[in-house]
Amino acid sequence: MVRPLICLVFWLITTSSEAFGISFHAYHGQEEIHASLRQLARQNPNLVHFHTLGYSEQGRNIDYVVVSHGEPESLPAIYINGTHHGDEKASTEGVLGLIDYLVKYRQLPVVRELLSNYAIYLQPLVNPDGHAANRRFDARGLDPNRDYAFPGRRDEDSFKTPAIRLVRDLTNKVRFRAALALHSGMEGVLWAWAHSAERPADFDVFFTLAKLTAQAMGMSQYRQSYSDYPALGEFIDYAYMTHGTLAMTVEVANNPTPPAEDLDAVVKRAVAGSVSFMLGIMDLDRGELSIIRNSPTRKDIIPWARANERATRQGL
Ligand SMILES: [Zn+2]
Repeated sequence: MVRPLICLVFWLITTSSEAFGISFHAYHGQEEIHASLRQLARQNPNLVHFHTLGYSEQGRNIDYVVVSHGEPESLPAIYINGTHHGDEKASTEGVLGLIDYLVKYRQLPVVRELLSNYAIYLQPLVNPDGHAANRRFDARGLDPNRDYAFPGRRDEDSFKTPAIRLVRDLTNKVRFRAALALHSGMEGVLWAWAHSAERPADFDVFFTLAKLTAQAMGMSQYRQSYSDYPALGEFIDYAYMTHGTLAMTVEVANNPTPPAEDLDAVVKRAVAGSVSFMLGIMDLDRGELSIIRNSPTRKDIIPWARANERATRQGL
């Protein structure tokens, strides 16, 4: 797997911007996104399936597409979404870039294999009201990525954001095998749990997938989300808790909304990371993923653990 992956990443990095059917030299507005997804589905009826998941608090469309060579309902599914946080517009563009990539390169052998074995659910905008207002929160000022249930908070005390209830319903209907939530504001890959320092049961798998994804993006940071910072109510925790979905956050750029001249490179990197992740899932499901065993110890993934240990030794 390593060699095709390297070739894929090399190809993504070296291919000119013509590789994309749509241009990433400017940010896309919501009407343009909606129209282009519908058009893509019309042009590729056996490959792209357009759906409206519902509507935001302020009545904006929340759309997604399913890309697959097979019958989506009969295949395991992978879910990739963007812009939980409305001002992190690079994440929406990353999902659009991935859709475009999968459609354009559907006959590339490795992509064909992926699309024949999985249904890929792609939702560019989780929080369209925040995207329209260019702010992190939803229309009522709630943080969508703190609104999910997690071990320790019940459903009744969560899901106050209409858009997040829609993601919850899709998650519970499809029961995704794996998922990425694209964000922007740092560069790195973070896996569940976000609410707890406790290692997830799939720690080694997460570690391996996160490392593959980060390397494909040229990023050095990959760790359990909690050790980046603790957060309650994140998508990755809900997806992992409810259905064992291998869910990770991918932070695609240090700037939430990078300058337009940087966007093309950011999108290419997000595509490289997302595709590498999905190929990793495919390898895992075939029993062919080489688990990277040199996982860090807990001390390594929790920065303050070492300081605590030192303080304890010194009787502080
Ligand atoms: Zn974010």
